[in-house]
Amino acid sequence: MSKQNIKQLDLEQLKARFLQWGEPAYRAVQVYDWLWKKQVSSFEEMSNLPKGLRKFLTQNFEIPKTHFTRTSHSRDGTLKNAVMLPDELIVESVLIPERKRVTACISSQVGCSLDCTFCATAKLKRMRNLSVDEIVDQVVEASKQSMTHYGVPLTNIVFMGMGEPLLNYENVLEAIRKITSPAGLHFSAKRITLSTAGIPKMIKRLAHDAPRIKLAVSLHAAIDETRSKLMPVNKRTGGLEALKESLQYWYKHTKSPVTFEYLVFKGVNDDDAHIKALVKYAGQIPSKVNLIQYNPTDSFSVYQQADSSVVEKYRRVLKDAGIMATVRRSRGQDIEAACGQLAATYENSDLPKIPYKTVRQSKIKN
Ligand code: SAH
Repeated sequence: MSKQNIKQLDLEQLKARFLQWGEPAYRAVQVYDWLWKKQVSSFEEMSNLPKGLRKFLTQNFEIPKTHFTRTSHSRDGTLKNAVMLPDELIVESVLIPERKRVTACISSQVGCSLDCTFCATAKLKRMRNLSVDEIVDQVVEASKQSMTHYGVPLTNIVFMGMGEPLLNYENVLEAIRKITSPAGLHFSAKRITLSTAGIPKMIKRLAHDAPRIKLAVSLHAAIDETRSKLMPVNKRTGGLEALKESLQYWYKHTKSPVTFEYLVFKGVNDDDAHIKALVKYAGQIPSKVNLIQYNPTDSFSVYQQADSSVVEKYRRVLKDAGIMATVRRSRGQDIEAACGQLAATYENSDLPKIPYKTVRQSKIKN
């Protein structure tokens, strides 16, 4: 009989099991603490449990481990990790050092079901959602790596790796609870950003379930026709109007402004009409705009980064309209660790690869 993953039980479920076995509930609290706070990888290490109980747990449960199996180093200090999951699928997570912060960019799915036309992950088949412990383990490993490599603790977490976090809603939410709870990693919710391609119905749920985290939305165009071409999910979820309504709802409930991520592509959204549309759109939602640099995903890509003068014009016009805008350079481009470049392809290696999609995959309804 295969053993059960003990990390799939939350504290209440664990307590109920212990009571069933005739063990006091505080033993469950001890085990939970070893699992989620001290992050041990075997029951033997749980030194305050009686020997018999340790043996019983070892016989009946496993503690699956997600670990970094390979790390690539960028010239700019960014680290990209191949994350080996217990079933040997690989995702990627990135650690980005900045002046006063170290940010971990983590994945929420193996592959992605969305078909954003400019993103490398979108070419991969969505194999499955990550489990709660696989998400939390990425953060734990990133914290350790931050201490070892940079000598400082992790300060920020962004859900900007592989996958669409709002399409793995329950697990992402539970992972955020474990990351922030005092019984877990006790990380500040304010330092967690969830980035989404924009699924209005789920944004509204998130406003109630995780009102203290930060929300980023990949916008890339405030004209429906253009956005639907770049991000087909736009059409299927009610377009910019439904997105706007959900973001106004988000703000009303959280009082937290949204960050729009915005790429400017040559010949696609680099004209005055698109600038004007963005100013109007962002003006209706408390927000700021991050103008991010496009990272080429392969040599056949149809996209090109717009001229820097256009990006500067975007910034200036937004600023003149009272909307904060920053121009952000991507980190880790030389090791394909930058936004949109995560595809878990390791040339000349025996690491397993995520298969490519043969046809467009997503069938998302709002
Ligand atoms: N699914 C989520 C999170 C993953 S992508 C989302 O869509 O937000 C993280 C960010 O990288 C998004 O803003 C995405 O639009 C951006 N991105 C994707 N491909 C990119 C590329 N080739 N260059 C720069 N940014 C890219």
